[in-house]
Amino acid sequence: MTRILSVASECVPFVKTGGLADVVGALPAALAPLGDEVKTLIPGYRAVMEKLGKAREVAAFDDLFGGPARVLSAVVGGLDVLVLEAAHLYDRTGGPYLDAAGRDWPDNPERFAALSYAAAHLAVHGIADWAVDVVHGHDWQAGLIPEYLHNMSQSGPVPPFVFTVHNIAFHGNAARERCADLWLDPWRLTTQHFEFWGQISALKAGLTGAAKITTVSQTYAEELLTPEFGMGMEGVLAARQADLIGIVNGIDTDVWNPQTDPEIATYKLPGGKKANKAALRAEFDLPEAEGPLCVLVSRLSGQKGIDLLLEALPALLARGGQLALLGSGDPALEAKLVEMAANEPNVAVRIGYDEALAHRLIAGGDVILVPSRFEPCGLTQLYGLRYGTVPLVTLTGGLADTVINASPAAMARGVATGVQVFPVTAAAIANGFARLCTLFEQPKVWGSLQRNAMRQPVGWDTSAAAFHSLYGAVAGRAT
Ligand code: ADP
Repeated sequence: MTRILSVASECVPFVKTGGLADVVGALPAALAPLGDEVKTLIPGYRAVMEKLGKAREVAAFDDLFGGPARVLSAVVGGLDVLVLEAAHLYDRTGGPYLDAAGRDWPDNPERFAALSYAAAHLAVHGIADWAVDVVHGHDWQAGLIPEYLHNMSQSGPVPPFVFTVHNIAFHGNAARERCADLWLDPWRLTTQHFEFWGQISALKAGLTGAAKITTVSQTYAEELLTPEFGMGMEGVLAARQADLIGIVNGIDTDVWNPQTDPEIATYKLPGGKKANKAALRAEFDLPEAEGPLCVLVSRLSGQKGIDLLLEALPALLARGGQLALLGSGDPALEAKLVEMAANEPNVAVRIGYDEALAHRLIAGGDVILVPSRFEPCGLTQLYGLRYGTVPLVTLTGGLADTVINASPAAMARGVATGVQVFPVTAAAIANGFARLCTLFEQPKVWGSLQRNAMRQPVGWDTSAAAFHSLYGAVAGRAT
């Protein structure tokens, strides 16, 4: 049994902007049957404090980066959660990272330095009589933990640190003059530690200070070593290659369960899909159509390839296909999508964030689209697989690892689960739409794709076992 302090800036069911929150929220329950105990530390944003309910104080700080703070412990929805309450850092309207106008909070360096410092403090002092064996930090917001652990190691032993990269694009940089403000040792502002092109990088601190680094798919682990995907960290990662492991994300198969999903009609192929599709068309005001109903649920950013999708879309519409999309993000992309929907009866768009609608989309679509430029793991294609909603994805990161392309060989062997597109261009996506429509026009072939998709293991079992072994190994015990 290993006791793990997991540290992240978001976590379902408290606060979510993307897949990180799903993973951090689901992994503890997946590890429990293996005997591991996880406590999850998150910032006490206003929305988190509102959901917390009755909680017990387990640590207090007179001055944590400019004000008092304390750590509260509670069990919510089965999750053993620790919340860092620090009103001066987190009690405000807006998102976890951005203000209402979409700008980074100017004090983000302090906000997440505080999270990391509190984590290191708990790791060293324990939580009541619960001693921490391993600290597991997620993304740059937890990246400074090993720096604080290093400083604390002067006065006693500290537990090992595991770092997971969910997306290398976010570095958490701060000006080099800010070492003292962030309680960092200026002597460690070097290329071996947290200096990155003249700045402080929380991400680099995590990468250099971790006993082991994991990332969210095997292919992304390999891509991270290349200049195309490494976002400047490829050299740092090359030096840590022996300790870099790809462990693919799973999904919460209770939340995403087509048999019990409260958002949809009882699910059974092919009738269930038909009913869900009809309901979705009605909800999105889409007419009946011959071709596949494609759905997409995503943040709207350059990473997600939405611009490429829009360019390729005529190839789908020409074959009688449709698009229903839910997303929010980049205002320019939002505007383009809304304009496209206004001019094209077979395209429907909802701008916003809506979990329940995401379920209805995934359940009602024939196809889930994930046309990302890069995708560390991706979750919506996994939801699609589970709901018999065939994925059309670009060949990158976790999309490469979790979808089996409908190549002639895979079709002949009866193992294909979707369509993969390469290279990541509008022309290749258009070509993918043509292949997809040809498959869709053959009901038997389509049915076999759907059934193969639904048979894929998309839960946490295998990956939780991998984390269990990893924690045991870094904690120095056999598993
Ligand atoms: P990323 O973390 O890069 O945003 P992932 O595919 O790993 O991408 O995870 C995205 C998660 O957020 C999924 O659970 C997806 O369903 C959800 N999601 C994204 N946008 C929306 C939205 N507009 N409404 C509801 N859920 C969304």
